[in-house]
Amino acid sequence: MPENEKILIDSTISRIPPKTQTIVSHAHSDHFSALNSYSPTLATKETIDLYTIQKGNRIKGKYRSVQLGEKITIETTLGIVTITFVPSGHVLGSASILIEFDNERLLFSSDIGAKGILTVNHSLKPVKADHLIVEATFGSPRARFPPRQEIAMDILRWTADIAKEKMIAVFSAGKIGSAQELIKLFNDYTNLRVLTHGSVTPVSEVHKKYGIDLEFFDSRSEEGREILREGDAVVIQQRGKKIVPFFMKEYYKCKRAIVTGMVTKYPFKTFDAAFPLSSHANYYEILDYIEQVSPAKVFTIYGDEDELAKNIYKKFGISAKPIKQKIVHELEVLLPLQESDSSSSPTTSSSVAAPSSKVPLQSNPTTIPPITTKKGHSKNNEKKDLTLDDFLPIVDQ
Ligand SMILES: [Zn+2]
Repeated sequence: MPENEKILIDSTISRIPPKTQTIVSHAHSDHFSALNSYSPTLATKETIDLYTIQKGNRIKGKYRSVQLGEKITIETTLGIVTITFVPSGHVLGSASILIEFDNERLLFSSDIGAKGILTVNHSLKPVKADHLIVEATFGSPRARFPPRQEIAMDILRWTADIAKEKMIAVFSAGKIGSAQELIKLFNDYTNLRVLTHGSVTPVSEVHKKYGIDLEFFDSRSEEGREILREGDAVVIQQRGKKIVPFFMKEYYKCKRAIVTGMVTKYPFKTFDAAFPLSSHANYYEILDYIEQVSPAKVFTIYGDEDELAKNIYKKFGISAKPIKQKIVHELEVLLPLQESDSSSSPTTSSSVAAPSSKVPLQSNPTTIPPITTKKGHSKNNEKKDLTLDDFLPIVDQ
């Protein structure tokens, strides 16, 4: 086995040096580019599948698929390094990376998941580490999302109103993560048929392969077009696509919504509604995670890294330092582990078009009637009433 001089995690540098072991934490495009290089790479099998479905089987280098929880040893010029893929609960197959070397433990959180995500097989698992590199996508106290079940209910209510007006709701969502979560919500709690558009379809098929129970129809298939003609449907497309697919407008008037945690930062005025459904942990969940990892030193990366580092130091008294933007996505874990050399009114954003009265969080479970349609095409016409209790086991998984 060749001795490695470097280990790169989620690197996006175009030329990866020889004698480098690369690691890919999950299948979002801002993390996976090492799979498109000639370097030897470690990634979970779910990540490999999600990558190949997006890129068309273009993995150039050697790769090894790893199970979540599996320990891998890597031979380096300084000795044996142990790598563990720890569940990060962010998207299907996503991992935090624990590196053990010379009796030190460094944990790279990568993107970590919010509580209660419906479409991951493994929820976030904090593990103890001496050093933590933690994501700060929503590392500001402003990034406080409402409880997930409340967001879900807002989405379902808004969609029900659109359906009642004989229109079609078109959702823009992250193609890996929130898109599948929307499919699951509509499958479980409505009789609306779910049309997936563009790349959301093949990515959702990969989720089915790994046991995530989803029912959807591709919008461009014969069946999908027939459903469009009949109505009683909801459409989910990849976030970033600016227009409603033209052929949908032939049949129905559409209303557009976006789901993203960025609703806590931007108004998204071009949409009819915006919901803070995110695959990322929010600020308060990140702080809980840090507390459980219990590191002596923290580095923050991605997004609000300055603000998060300051607040970590304030709250825990732990040395915390931002990893600056210039090396974001080029995180180089040097051997031996680097030393840190310095230390350093929540608002709740809700959906634009959601009902003004919020669902109470305590006591009597609040229900909303299932969304039903006159045709009842779904595989299961006996739909559930959505209650807060329905979500409790999910949160605890
Ligand atoms: Zn991600």
